Amino acid sequence: MSPDAPRPEPLAKICEDVRHGRVKAFDRVAAFLTAISQRDGEIHAFNEVFEQHALDQARRVDQLAKRGESPGPLAGAVIAIKDNIVMSVGKTTCSSKMLANYCSPFNATVIERLERAGAIFIGKTNLDEFAMGSSTENSAFGPTRNPWDTSRVPGGSSGGSAAAVAARFCDAALGSDTGGSIRQPAALCGCVGFKPTYGRVSRYGLVAFGSSLDQIGPFAHSVEDAALVYDELVGFDPNDSTSAEGTNERLAGKLGQPIAKLRIGVPREYRSDANSPAVAAVLEKSIAAARAFGAEIVDIDLPLTDIGISTYYVIAPAEASSNLARYDGIRYGHRAKLEAGEDLEDLYSKSRAEGFGPEVQRRIMLGTYVLSSGYYDAYYKRALQARRLIKDEFDRAFAKCDVILGPTSPVVAFPFGGKKDPLSMYLCDVYTVNTNIAGIPGISINGGFAEEGGKKLPVGIQLQAPAFAEETLLRAAAMFERA
Ligand code: GLN
Repeated sequence: MSPDAPRPEPLAKICEDVRHGRVKAFDRVAAFLTAISQRDGEIHAFNEVFEQHALDQARRVDQLAKRGESPGPLAGAVIAIKDNIVMSVGKTTCSSKMLANYCSPFNATVIERLERAGAIFIGKTNLDEFAMGSSTENSAFGPTRNPWDTSRVPGGSSGGSAAAVAARFCDAALGSDTGGSIRQPAALCGCVGFKPTYGRVSRYGLVAFGSSLDQIGPFAHSVEDAALVYDELVGFDPNDSTSAEGTNERLAGKLGQPIAKLRIGVPREYRSDANSPAVAAVLEKSIAAARAFGAEIVDIDLPLTDIGISTYYVIAPAEASSNLARYDGIRYGHRAKLEAGEDLEDLYSKSRAEGFGPEVQRRIMLGTYVLSSGYYDAYYKRALQARRLIKDEFDRAFAKCDVILGPTSPVVAFPFGGKKDPLSMYLCDVYTVNTNIAGIPGISINGGFAEEGGKKLPVGIQLQAPAFAEETLLRAAAMFERA
């Protein structure tokens, strides 16, 4: 792959061509299936490809277009779905042995919405088991490879979705982001990854990890494409008790309008020594580009950036330990075979020991520990207090600026096995976890490339905005993209 390859056409244009019958959705799906069959053996972006289902959906879209009935705003858009979002076709495995054969009886709300909008689902993408990880190496079905350099990770946990978009196996993809799982793999694979405000997109049918942090969002080739998909995802859902009420304006059409007098905050803490030289250079280049397009750069302080990882690794495992209690081999999940004399307790513990991989087990143990009596006040309660402080710190920062700019990840895509101890892996998310802790929206776009080992590797930059300020966030991101 080369950074100079021509960009795919805007998705809005493709969908308009499909609606008018100028382009056949069927042919587009067939072409993506060919690309997948040629290269996904190497990349392993997909856990499952829906050949027949996707072609059937495409035929239906083409028939509607032929009859002059609108198949919808996403007519013929070919979308890959992270394999922790349930669909009534195929399996939903969460890349875990625990759910290796799980078939959902229903569709997630996001699937229903996209289908109504005319989208076509090409398959389910690989992830770190139950979305726990930053490299997709924790998948029980083997890792995904980075399309830019197949000796390197694609990031995670939504590594399959990011790689599928980067390798041009689809127009867009859905991921979930609990602490960075959309933005970090987007950065490492050179595509756009957008995590909306907590509550904007329904979580109904997303397999729960950290319920107060989880949010679904799109991967795409451009900010406008991401907005086009987001416009269909967003909206109140009575099936999700944390779903945000209120009207949602469509944003995709508005991104051409630059924001006058945009104030961009750059936290001192984001210009850290922990950034690799390539990441630091891209950040400085982006700041210069922003000045050149007329934005005001404001120095700000986010001293609590430092405590994000420790706060996240109390709250997320605590919630995960509760959410994952349902996989006991009876209600859900892999069921172990019992030996003579073993009882129900043995069934639970054997099933969970066999079904969950090491990282998931570590999170469950961390989570039950911080919630146990005697440690609750010292860990969980303090983490919730820290969460409040982090949120307040963002509120103060956004009094001085409209968006916050920084790196998405301190490093570019690293080689497989490059982060051996859990803590060094966790530190990949220093710039992304606080977004989820505060519930605000964040987006990663490509900021440039770094040369490493003879390959060009993408470098992401991240923008964050106040809760529900998606319009500001996406318009600002489009300004960077044009620059
Ligand atoms: N990498 C982080 C973790 O392992 C975030 C994952 C996510 O956002 N799902 O928990």
